[in-house]
Amino acid sequence: MSATQVAQKVSAEHLARTAYLYVRQSTLRQVQTNTESAERQYALRQRAVQLGWATEQIVVIDTDQGQSGASSADREGFQRLVADVGLGKAGIVLGLEVSRLARNNADWHRLLEICALSRTLICDEDGLYDPADFNDRLLLGLKGTMSEAELHFIRARLQGGILSKARRGELPMPLPVGLVEDSTGKVALDPDAAVQRAIAHLFDRFARTSSARAVVQAFNRDGLLFPTRIRTGERKGDLVWSPLTHSRVLRTLHNPRYAGAFAYGQRRTRKTASGKTTTRVVPREEWLLIPDAHPGYITFEQYERNLRTLAANATAYGTDRAAGPAREGTALLQGLAVCGRCGQRMTVRYHTRKGVQVPDYQCIRVNIQTAGEKCQVIQGNGVDTAISQLLLDTVTPLALEVALNVQAELEARADEADQLRKTHVQRARQRAELARRRYLAVDPDNRLVADTLEADWNDTLRALQTAQDEYERQTAAANAALTEQHKQRIRQLASDFPALWNDPATPARERKRVVRLLIEDVTLTKADQIHVHVRFRGGQTTKLTLPKALNSWQARLTPPDIPAEIDRLLDHHTDAEVAAELNQLGRRSGMKQPFTRRIVADIRHDNNLPSHHKRLRARGLLTHHEIAELLGVHPNTIHAWRRAGLLHAHRTTDKPDYLYEPPQPDDRIRKQQGRRLADRKLASSTPGGAL
Ligand SMILES: [Zn+2]
Repeated sequence: MSATQVAQKVSAEHLARTAYLYVRQSTLRQVQTNTESAERQYALRQRAVQLGWATEQIVVIDTDQGQSGASSADREGFQRLVADVGLGKAGIVLGLEVSRLARNNADWHRLLEICALSRTLICDEDGLYDPADFNDRLLLGLKGTMSEAELHFIRARLQGGILSKARRGELPMPLPVGLVEDSTGKVALDPDAAVQRAIAHLFDRFARTSSARAVVQAFNRDGLLFPTRIRTGERKGDLVWSPLTHSRVLRTLHNPRYAGAFAYGQRRTRKTASGKTTTRVVPREEWLLIPDAHPGYITFEQYERNLRTLAANATAYGTDRAAGPAREGTALLQGLAVCGRCGQRMTVRYHTRKGVQVPDYQCIRVNIQTAGEKCQVIQGNGVDTAISQLLLDTVTPLALEVALNVQAELEARADEADQLRKTHVQRARQRAELARRRYLAVDPDNRLVADTLEADWNDTLRALQTAQDEYERQTAAANAALTEQHKQRIRQLASDFPALWNDPATPARERKRVVRLLIEDVTLTKADQIHVHVRFRGGQTTKLTLPKALNSWQARLTPPDIPAEIDRLLDHHTDAEVAAELNQLGRRSGMKQPFTRRIVADIRHDNNLPSHHKRLRARGLLTHHEIAELLGVHPNTIHAWRRAGLLHAHRTTDKPDYLYEPPQPDDRIRKQQGRRLADRKLASSTPGGAL
């Protein structure tokens, strides 16, 4: 481009306006390290001066440093530039590789458009452009497109590189605490024994309790801390020990890296139209997952099992409810009871009777699905008592083993906790020793350094003292809990399962866990009696039959022979008629009241007596639709025939609902029907017409 051409483009009008120098760097790292391009950008200032602008006419916009150019939405400086150009304040816009002023094509074209309208020139190291000139504008547009294409290729190359590295399991990803990269860059378990133990302890506790909350409780109870590695800042890489939280347990259990699997793509980040960044969690099926990529704390099978357990716990109240973890509450079979009618897991509902918590086992499946009656509700007390007795009776040969397991678990628990606490003390001692050596090694004349090191040494000594005190306190607590009465009690229990079972000090939760150790599930069916089908772990089964428990007011109030009497009367009468019959016989309800339809219905429900309607159906009686179909007439005709006494109908409830006896061969109705068929042949155009 010749000097005259340049001179032609710059007019007096341009020179009267301001020159804008737009300086930008796309990342913070560029701002810090790439000073060369910054220098190139500031050199453009000289160019503006050469073109005729005075130094004080040049405005430098560099507020966007450290932000990516992919969208203008969060770039204040660029927006200010666009605004000023639009207002006609700018005579020229200078920038390094102008096409990069706005990498985003839409932004770029908008700026070009505005520059063209406001007759603003554009200048970069390559030349001077007038966007109002067709040829210049074409050139600039092309540059913008090229720049965008370049950005696209860079990103694609980067993404491709990341993916192929990820596929080989070689992509460096931030590792969770407990895993480190060794000197060769391979992922390995953290060599810090305390960290390893804490993580192993978490997985172990979860395996035993199947509950994330119980893991947290166990850590807190034993005064154990959990490690975190600081990711950023001055203390990057340092370990911090803090109390374990529930979300921490969940994150640890969900992280496939602990199972030795490499995972990539668990989250996906994308830019929204407004330029903001959003992150979404990707379903597990879409991750890139490479099992056995490096050593782990658990097997991949264990990892998947843990996830299933968590899912089951989360849906413990849903319809796909699997056996949940042992929770508080007295119901022994919580999570183990299966409905004998439909095969669903039964839930537990507690209510308080005379200040005592009593459980019901209920199958609510049908209730939820059809808003009809509950599938079945069975009083828990009787069942629990029977199961207790069953365990006490049949478990005797197993008693020793169970109690020994309990004892072994208690001791293992104490041992592990002790190990963990000991390592804390050891670490504190090592640190103190290190600080002491540093202090001794320093030249005593170097007062400042010596003082600092002495202070460090003192700090580590105080930390050691605290760790030791804590260790002694916890050990004393653990021993107090285990030695003397407790150990004696455990030994007692080892030979005496009933004592363990009946000991009021045994929490309901522990009792339930003993049940879980022994019993796989219990199927409950309520019929004339309650049938209990027990499946032990290991495969043996036992059946029990229990009398049906009456509910409290019945048990106290309803005379014992009344249900049988109602059962007899229901063969021939509706609920209201049964009530009338009983009143006729001078019987009174438990509340010393005359019987009503409602009371009869309640007793019928509580005793699972089939209704009059059901009994008639069982005897083969037909609904009026069925009989209408059988006889080939309109249902309305059936009503007419019943009223005319042509059909044998029975009232089934206290509303006008009827069931019909199937017509006998010699019934008048047959003759009637014969006549009707003849009628129909004559007047076939009136189907379903009246008689
Ligand atoms: Zn059911």
